[in-house]
Amino acid sequence: MLLSDIATVVGFDHCLTDPDLRAAYEVDWTGRYRGLSPAVIRPGSVDELSAVLALCHGAGQPVVVQGGNTGMVGGGVPLRGELVVSVGRLGNLQVVSERRVRAGAGATLGRLQQAADSVGAGFGVDTAARDSATIGGMIATNAGGINVVRFGPMGDQLLDAGVVLADGSYLPSLRQTGPDHPAHGLIDLLAGSEGILAVVAHADLTIAPDPAAVAVAMIEVPAARLQSLVAGVGGLPSIYAIELFGGPEVELAASGLGRSAPLSADWLALVECRSDDDPAGALAEVVGDLPAVVATNPSVGRELWLFREALTEGVSRLGIPHKFDVRVPHAGLNDVRASVTAAVPNGTVFVWGHAFSNRDGHPTANLHINIIGEVDDEAVFDVIENLGGSIAAEHGIGTAKRHRADRARDDLAALAEMKRRLDPKRILNPAVLLPDDF
Ligand SMILES: Cc1cc2nc3c(=O)[nH]c(=O)nc-3n(C[C@H](O)[C@H](O)[C@H](O)COP(=O)(O)OP(=O)(O)OC[C@H]3O[C@@H](n4cnc5c(N)ncnc54)[C@H](O)[C@@H]3O)c2cc1C
Repeated sequence: MLLSDIATVVGFDHCLTDPDLRAAYEVDWTGRYRGLSPAVIRPGSVDELSAVLALCHGAGQPVVVQGGNTGMVGGGVPLRGELVVSVGRLGNLQVVSERRVRAGAGATLGRLQQAADSVGAGFGVDTAARDSATIGGMIATNAGGINVVRFGPMGDQLLDAGVVLADGSYLPSLRQTGPDHPAHGLIDLLAGSEGILAVVAHADLTIAPDPAAVAVAMIEVPAARLQSLVAGVGGLPSIYAIELFGGPEVELAASGLGRSAPLSADWLALVECRSDDDPAGALAEVVGDLPAVVATNPSVGRELWLFREALTEGVSRLGIPHKFDVRVPHAGLNDVRASVTAAVPNGTVFVWGHAFSNRDGHPTANLHINIIGEVDDEAVFDVIENLGGSIAAEHGIGTAKRHRADRARDDLAALAEMKRRLDPKRILNPAVLLPDDF
């Protein structure tokens, strides 16, 4: 009965019950998380999304929200037999001004970048999943990426959002939701809420004019100088990206690219600066006497970036990697490789990631730790927590790390309180982020 009511709302072609048609929505892209759903619902407008959620709410039917299904932590697949609500058809895009874009939740990052480019502007978050990841999913996970040092994560680009709540009510502007509404304050919690509080229907996001000149440097950094180098380049007004990796990673990338590694050291920092004036002089001053390759020609700069971009593919050539997305304070960076290696004696460890300062001004890095071989995930998480870090950086908690979220109850209290207010029946993403008893 529920499904036929839903099909009447969205049309039978967008209420997918055939197992072959559902299959791609029931498994994540890594193949690690797989579930079964009675149907995949694909609303084609905000009104339809509202009506679908109102019906599910009335029937007490749990749902899982899905965007581009590029998430890394199993948050968008129906692991408990939920209905899948896919927002991929809500893909409208409108450039409001040179500083503002309005995007439907299902618009991909790549399309948003093209829209920004059409007015000579850029968008602050970029990831390799740009052709599939959606704006709704990126807000839900508070996605980061290579320019996080300059622009912050997705939440920092969010000017306003329109959402549909669990009971189907539509709020076109969270910024204008008054203090008496139960969703007051949701705008501050939305980024990183992983679909448990509301379904993002559309968002207004900030874009910024693209600076004219670029400088890219690959710098050899001895462990003892890592913190001061990152603080120095991080303080440049022109900073756009600080990527860190080490000798084993650059060798891996070089062998995949069929080239020799340009440099090798404890750490390599790949730094990009952009400004309307030439940023190379200020960058060279901070680099000082450290050996470096510096490119001011964009095509040479792209050559240096190849060594960073070849890492994901390079590690996959060695086997199926265990992937960890963790945050580590700069003070712990020099201990990460040795401590993780000690915790996984039968694994080969690769470490790379983005350095930046968090909102409180504490220097930190989002690290992607990839391990080939036998791995005890919990031992790796313990190492990261002992270094003062966090087991989730920019991919979210999802289902994969939910069992560890118990340790962060204080941090999750505001989310849990908002969940009780907005979704007391717990129909939105019930197996995601919050422990069941929270
Ligand atoms: C090759 C590759 C590279 C990547 N690089 C990065 C990177 O550099 N940085 C980074 O942060 N991530 C990265 N990711 C991870 C992934 O792209 C992000 O997590 C992305 O934000 C997920 O977007 P999505 O549309 O695919 O969401 P999905 O995978 O569909 O969903 C992710 C979560 O968001 C929820 N959700 C989806 N849409 C909505 C909505 N409209 N409203 C409410 N909740 C919703 C889902 O329920 C789920 O919990 C990468 C992934 C791949 C495959």
